[in-house]
Amino acid sequence: MRIGIIGAGQLGQMLGFAARDLDMQCRFIDPSDAPPAAVAGDVIKRPFDDPDALQTLADECDVVTYEFENVPVEALLRISDRVPVYPPPGALRHAQDRLAEKRLFDSLQIPLPRYRAVDTLQDLQAAIDAIGLPLVLKTRRLGYDGKGQFVVRSVDDIDAAWRTLGTQALIAEEWVPFDYEVSAIGVRNVAGDIAMYPLTHNEHEDGILRRSRAPVDAPELTAIAGRYVTALLSHLDYVGVLALEFFVTGDRLLANEFAPRVHNSGHWTIEGAETSQFANHLRAISNLPLGSTACRGHAGMLNLIGEIPDTTRTPPEPGYWLHDYGKTPREGRKLGHITTVAASAEDRDRRLRLILDALPKV
Ligand code: AMP
Repeated sequence: MRIGIIGAGQLGQMLGFAARDLDMQCRFIDPSDAPPAAVAGDVIKRPFDDPDALQTLADECDVVTYEFENVPVEALLRISDRVPVYPPPGALRHAQDRLAEKRLFDSLQIPLPRYRAVDTLQDLQAAIDAIGLPLVLKTRRLGYDGKGQFVVRSVDDIDAAWRTLGTQALIAEEWVPFDYEVSAIGVRNVAGDIAMYPLTHNEHEDGILRRSRAPVDAPELTAIAGRYVTALLSHLDYVGVLALEFFVTGDRLLANEFAPRVHNSGHWTIEGAETSQFANHLRAISNLPLGSTACRGHAGMLNLIGEIPDTTRTPPEPGYWLHDYGKTPREGRKLGHITTVAASAEDRDRRLRLILDALPKV
């Protein structure tokens, strides 16, 4: 099986490693120098929407997928009559526009924070009247890791918010004083079988995922999240892994956003689940039966941002797995992650703390 992957970042690298174990070959498109996935397959060094590079993937691969969200949908549509492209470009189209995404959640009766489309300063004023303060203003497109967002806490912030973001199409969203955040990672294969990983508890700093822990011990929330993800997967006729992020308030889940791809909050599945999200994504898009999503214990993952500290290379105890993506260090850049799996949640948390205390602050 030959897998074409648009994007050769760390997600591509981890897909590439999983592909090796499944005896599949990967071919990537990525314009950057020495991208992380180059160690796991051949990289065509061209822009993501380069027609010749896409043609090569269509000709030489059995299926094409992508590892990041800003792939031009038109590029995927151009090859989708020649080779299966999964997840379906229609899902990507929704995920690329926060307004379309929120309308989709609404149409599937997946609860979400109150929101308004904002194209003018008058719209922002109307959103404040309707939603109240604080609210968060987000660009509809190209936002990630908390970028393209402005929290409007009082009317004094309106000018600064508008100066920062006002040239783009926006949404205003209720600020949710959540208890914690979780993600639900699901997978659907070509045959329509669906499997869910246990819920993952995620902690962000400055909008960037810092720590993930699974499974979350909340059977009712897990069941509700499973229903929402299943609705999304079925409605989109989805194939592959999808991550849906939620705010938890009391016994309620409010959907924040979904990613039509393997997800940072699922990295723990490499060591912590029977089948990793990467292996299951490849199985799903290759028309194979899905692997078990059961946990192998209590897993924790820390993102290594800006530097890979020595403590992660020589951890204080055995039982840690360091993933170094091989990227050049830069402030705020995700360079790797470290995972641990323990027999109890308490021991998992203790083990995470041993490493966490030595990490640089974001
Ligand atoms: P996003 O890029 O939308 O996933 O936002 C990044 C992070 O910012 C989220 O994971 C939350 O921690 C925080 N955030 C985003 N939107 C809201 C909101 N409406 N209420 C509270 N926190 C938010």
